[in-house]
Amino acid sequence: AALDALPGRDALMPVLDALPDARLVGGAVRDILAGRPSADLDLGTPSPPEDTMRRAVAAGLKAVPTGLAHGTVTIVSAGRPVEVTTLRRDVQTDGRHAVVAWTESWTEDAGRRDFTINAMSLGRDGVLHDPFGGVRDLRERRVRFVGEAARRIEEDALRILRFFRFHARFGGSVPDAEAVAAIATGAAGLDRLSAERVQAELFRLLRLPDPAGAVTLMHELGVLDRVLPGVGDPAPLARLVALGAPADPVLRLAALAGTESAAAARRLKLSNADAVRLAGLAEPGTLRPDAGDAELRRSLAGREPALLIDRTWLAQAGDRNGPADWAALRRQLADTPRPVFSVSGRDAVAAGIRAGPEVGRALAAVHDWWLSEGCRPDREDCVRKLEAFAAAMG
Ligand code: ATP
Ligand code: MG
Repeated sequence: AALDALPGRDALMPVLDALPDARLVGGAVRDILAGRPSADLDLGTPSPPEDTMRRAVAAGLKAVPTGLAHGTVTIVSAGRPVEVTTLRRDVQTDGRHAVVAWTESWTEDAGRRDFTINAMSLGRDGVLHDPFGGVRDLRERRVRFVGEAARRIEEDALRILRFFRFHARFGGSVPDAEAVAAIATGAAGLDRLSAERVQAELFRLLRLPDPAGAVTLMHELGVLDRVLPGVGDPAPLARLVALGAPADPVLRLAALAGTESAAAARRLKLSNADAVRLAGLAEPGTLRPDAGDAELRRSLAGREPALLIDRTWLAQAGDRNGPADWAALRRQLADTPRPVFSVSGRDAVAAGIRAGPEVGRALAAVHDWWLSEGCRPDREDCVRKLEAFAAAMG
């Protein structure tokens, strides 16, 4: 019955016709019950992947063996991919890689999933299978581990980050006590994870409409510092979210990491493009909309306004001083004329600085002076300063 109303039903039904023993699993079931749109349609089946391939093709569906080692076949139905994965059980885990074997037991498969709300399955007959009380937890807004939280975290510490992601989406004001205790104890396990997995999961959290509460909880439980070394204050993120800034993970990371952005980029192995953008966004002191005019002009010198953010300001400014929302902030930045530092290496040489490394040094010194003067000195002032510099150097 629940399946009738499902968005994506047109894609799902032909697959369930071809594979009558399959059921909808994981997040798709949770999202139906929560009345939210689901990203993907995932099915489980007790049949081995070769059987799934054969039966799908026999029914005239396109089947692609996208992850046979994990038991996954992707069936394209009504133009949509439907992932069908053979039920699995863990045979051995070392905290990094799970070794899995096929099983015909739905309960075994559900038992290796992370949270009770992610461990339900729904057959085409409309029967909901909920071995661990996921329906109740969803209703009571509780993200609870399947089985013993501490052990599940030992098996795979990424589940710590997944906890915060699902807590931000489905959790209430009070997080599950057993989960909280196990996370506080097991947080060191995060150090053993690959940077790629950590980055992917953290970005998924930072893309949610409001991750601030979950990130604050991460901080309180000693998790934030493990994934973002040196980051101790989640307040700027909350402020950024409250301003209505876009749910952009790099922008939000900049608000969090601030002066520690280089360390964050290294820890998370950000792509070069993301790392450069993060550095530009997180540069301290770049944006203080409540600052005096000269200070604001100085802080904007030579930088890209759209990419500016100041975490100190985000943390401290009340609405009284700052712009009311992100759009106002952007407008204020766009309207602020940006001063241009207009002397170059050629000017330095013309002023008498010997060509070579001295040129860069002189320009840097004059640039610092120009900034300290609120960017007010014009080209002529700067040239005079260069001449004074050359005279002083002999
Ligand atoms: P979303 O809608 O955000 O994709 P999802 O529930 O589909 O949420 P995925 O990360 O796509 O989340 O994982 C799919 C399912 O696989 C989960 O619902 C969960 O049952 C299981 N799962 C994924 N990662 C883990 C993990 N590290 N440990 C245990 N189970 C996991
Ligand atoms: Mg998913």
